[in-house]
Amino acid sequence: VRAGGAVRLLTAGTGTAAPHPRRASAAHWVECGGVRLLMDCGAGALHRLAEFGAAWSGITHLALTHFHLDHVGEVPALLFALKYASAPARRRPLTIIGPEGTRALLGRMSAAHGEFVLDPGFSVEVVEVGPRSAVGGGPVALEEGVELRACPVPHTAESVAFSVATPAGRLVYTGDTGPGGELAAWARGCDLLLAECSLPDAMALQVHLTPRQAGELGRGAEAKRLVLTHLYPPVEEVPVAELAGAAYGGPVTVAADGMTIELGGA
Ligand SMILES: [Zn+2]
Ligand SMILES: [Zn+2]
Repeated sequence: VRAGGAVRLLTAGTGTAAPHPRRASAAHWVECGGVRLLMDCGAGALHRLAEFGAAWSGITHLALTHFHLDHVGEVPALLFALKYASAPARRRPLTIIGPEGTRALLGRMSAAHGEFVLDPGFSVEVVEVGPRSAVGGGPVALEEGVELRACPVPHTAESVAFSVATPAGRLVYTGDTGPGGELAAWARGCDLLLAECSLPDAMALQVHLTPRQAGELGRGAEAKRLVLTHLYPPVEEVPVAELAGAAYGGPVTVAADGMTIELGGA
């Protein structure tokens, strides 16, 4: 990592399971030094990466927060693209990071779609993170000075949030989560909290956040910046930034597909 080098976050997919004209399913692209990390790979992710100019074929790490289809639906398509649509043919290895069960999920994808999923002509390393995995919550070194950690969150049994610590700052991505748990303490002091913001108060669930709850998480975590993603259509009928901002105590960015946010290095 270059001293003072920035981290660039591209929110390529800020939507959910709901097909949406402007929000693809979850996909967040992070560039830092030589790292090209895609966090979640839901429907629409690949075409969005291409649309916004992310060098998808140079991906070094894929990190999956949980196994809902709006987060993993295009994983086979990504491996298919890397095998058949990368020119020149890819040789560099790919590391896939995810919660316990990721290896088994990839095995089922391979059984359904073909051996290219785990044997695409370059090496695919799978690293499972989480409380019961060999590496626990990490860290997993993505490259020298860039470390990924995982924290269990209340959503599905396997769900985790990710922290990406770099010399230019620390980014935390909640994946899908409900309120509570250890996430706020774990994320404390992060430079950027990329938080899910699924539903309005009137439709609140235990497994997702409302704008107010996302703001409370940002405040509890003392996050220096709060960016909201994973918006279901009904939440956009309420003033998301205002509601979250009031609870957070500062300005809030509602992400859009194609938005780029830089951390540090400025
Ligand atoms: Zn989701
Ligand atoms: Zn989910």
